[in-house]
Amino acid sequence: MKTGTEAKRGYGVFGTRRGDRAKIFFRKARSLLYVDRCVCVGCGAELPQSVRGGLCSECLSRSIALGSDICAKCGRIVANEADYCDTCINRDRHFEKARSCFVYDGVPKKLIYGLKFGGKRYLAPFLAESMTDRYLDENYDCDCVIAVPLSEKRKKKRGYNQSELLAEEISGQLKLPLLTGALEKIRDNKAQAKLRVNEREENVRGAYEVKDKAAVKGKRILVVDDVITTGATASEVAHMLYKAKARSVKVLTYASTRYTAPSENIFDEEDVYEDEMV
Ligand SMILES: [Zn+2]
Ligand SMILES: [Zn+2]
Repeated sequence: MKTGTEAKRGYGVFGTRRGDRAKIFFRKARSLLYVDRCVCVGCGAELPQSVRGGLCSECLSRSIALGSDICAKCGRIVANEADYCDTCINRDRHFEKARSCFVYDGVPKKLIYGLKFGGKRYLAPFLAESMTDRYLDENYDCDCVIAVPLSEKRKKKRGYNQSELLAEEISGQLKLPLLTGALEKIRDNKAQAKLRVNEREENVRGAYEVKDKAAVKGKRILVVDDVITTGATASEVAHMLYKAKARSVKVLTYASTRYTAPSENIFDEEDVYEDEMV
């Protein structure tokens, strides 16, 4: 119950001052717009200081960082210490190599969902920081950055291309030029969701075109995407860039799915792969 004096001082029913409540309101409103540098992008916990990648130690412990137990070609995690995953052993892979920061699961998966489907564009700089670190760890030596494009139709529907957001940030952080418009997606392929790797390759064939051959000729190109699954898209994009006389094509993504034997059903009900790379 408010007393007359408290009411005069501006206390509300919960004992907070009106000014405080206004501050809380604005803080909440602001948090909907962007995330403070000192808040974990995975769980919202306060961080003692800003950390690269924006993840607290708890979220990092719930993410599988990719280090050495990976396929030397596509960068996906492999079981039993094999050098290459079966896909890379058995199929043409046009990119020189691909690397990711995390396994597409847990917190990293949630972040990519947020960036891609939740309109959380503010996540791009944080994800890009981890990707830049991976680039440097791998001693990638590229001249320029290209994002895996979306078709015009798809980009219009989503309002942006999440891979472009990541590529812009990485280009800024590494001080490498971003080639925009050099590569385009010229047709929408059908959903990749339930397709096996060979079907995916077939599905993306001819979907991309290099529009500015002069821009890519002789260049060591860094192709940026959010997730790599089978690598069919990355391989097709690299193929097109090499046809346009690129000197080398390396791929960098925030996350990669685990390699799964073709006989296994790798997609669970909750996955939204159908939208991925379409
Ligand atoms: Zn966290
Ligand atoms: Zn591989």
